Amino acid sequence: QPSRLDSVIALAKRRGFVFQSGEIYGGSRSAWDYGPLGVELKENIKRQWWQRFVRGRGDMVGLDSAVILPRKVWEASGHVATFTDPLVECLHCHHRFRADHLTEAFVAKKGRDPEGGMAEIACPNCGTRGEWTEPREFSGMLKTYLGPVESEEGLNFLRPETAQGIFVDFAQVVTTSRMKPPFGIGQVGKAFRNEITPGNFIFRTREFEQMEIEYFVPPAEAGEHYEQWIADSVAFYTDLGIDPENLRRFDVPDGERAHYSDATADIEYRFGFTGSEWGELMGVANRTDFDLNNHIESSGQDLRFFDQAANEKYVPYVIEPSFGLTRALMAFLLDSYHEDEAPNAKGGVDKRTVLRLDPRLAPVKAAVLPLSRNEQLSPVARGLADDLRKNWNVDFDDAGAIGRRYRRHDEIGTPFCITVDFDTLEDKAVTVRERDTMAQERVALDQLQGYLAQRLLG
Ligand code: ATP
Repeated sequence: QPSRLDSVIALAKRRGFVFQSGEIYGGSRSAWDYGPLGVELKENIKRQWWQRFVRGRGDMVGLDSAVILPRKVWEASGHVATFTDPLVECLHCHHRFRADHLTEAFVAKKGRDPEGGMAEIACPNCGTRGEWTEPREFSGMLKTYLGPVESEEGLNFLRPETAQGIFVDFAQVVTTSRMKPPFGIGQVGKAFRNEITPGNFIFRTREFEQMEIEYFVPPAEAGEHYEQWIADSVAFYTDLGIDPENLRRFDVPDGERAHYSDATADIEYRFGFTGSEWGELMGVANRTDFDLNNHIESSGQDLRFFDQAANEKYVPYVIEPSFGLTRALMAFLLDSYHEDEAPNAKGGVDKRTVLRLDPRLAPVKAAVLPLSRNEQLSPVARGLADDLRKNWNVDFDDAGAIGRRYRRHDEIGTPFCITVDFDTLEDKAVTVRERDTMAQERVALDQLQGYLAQRLLG
């Protein structure tokens, strides 16, 4: 019996959600491509996030900053010096691993602290126990060289988080948008990390997407906003259908937090990895005034906020909810994946796979199916599909038995299948089948747009 994770990875490849990047050359574990269905799902998650947290709120604005920022930004932010992971190498097979991942998996399995550090830990590659180099710090920053000469002078970094673009633009945004704390800036975009051990499908890749908010607040209010953002972040997932049982909060203890953080809560999802079931889905951090202060010091610019009412300048504290877009996509796929049974034409039941995705996230909103491939039905169905496409991503499918076409669409989470049959030519109505209940309803063609709009929620 394959695990749910294995089934989802197989489905993602089979149906063109996600496949390995450059697979014709063997691919790699560090990058994945989002196919025709994957890109729709990813866009829909992004759109829901932007609407909920940026457009839908009076205290938020958006930004799209550069991937390659001046090198000074990363020196000031502390990333050049401290954005590192502990790397160990097996003395026997010379495979390299992140020491904290090995110990995490070990702790999860044994349920206790690994006494003696790495001494008991076996190499996941060759099985040799306890033969490791001392951990050494390895930079997670991806380097690139700008300009004609590949020299130290041209050395630049691809951003490992979208956040710094927000910090360095803080004063610009305040001036131009006239926002006052508490307010936030949201940004969605690619981030890059030279991960030592990419893997677990799209969970950990070297190139990924983030949806980040930097929320600027008067320092005294930081604690209350921090808790509110944790609650709002969890609600984003549960309102879009994630089972709350598969989410949990982990308060990151002292000594294990990122260099900039005063408090961090990871929101974990039950991904079902072998070794440790739970994995970080996103994080909420109290970054204090760390980043703005560093940029004030390094740039010599006054980035303080002028509070007119109090007639004083201050450096706001920052609460940062940092969402991984690609990790979110993986969680939505896993959580919506179900296997159940559907009645077949012979009066029995067939196994079916169904993605119970929220209609707002479903990559294809409706499929128009002529009952059979037929000179009279197909043109009507094609015309209907074209009409609906003005509003939604709609598929037309006339290949194979109707039951099989339903199965194909259940498997990718299409909320509605619309069947055009011979009666349609007479009564100007179609049969609409709902994905989860499989209930069928006759809907007049002139009511169909309204019927779908109400149920697809935008
Ligand atoms: P981890 O401990 O898993 O390496 P992190 O704590 O370093 O993650 P953050 O720096 O808090 O991660 O990044 C914020 C979010 O960005 C993460 O919660 C995750 O959703 C996403 N993210 C970070 N690194 C990766 C990656 N290599 N691949 C995919 N998503 C990532």
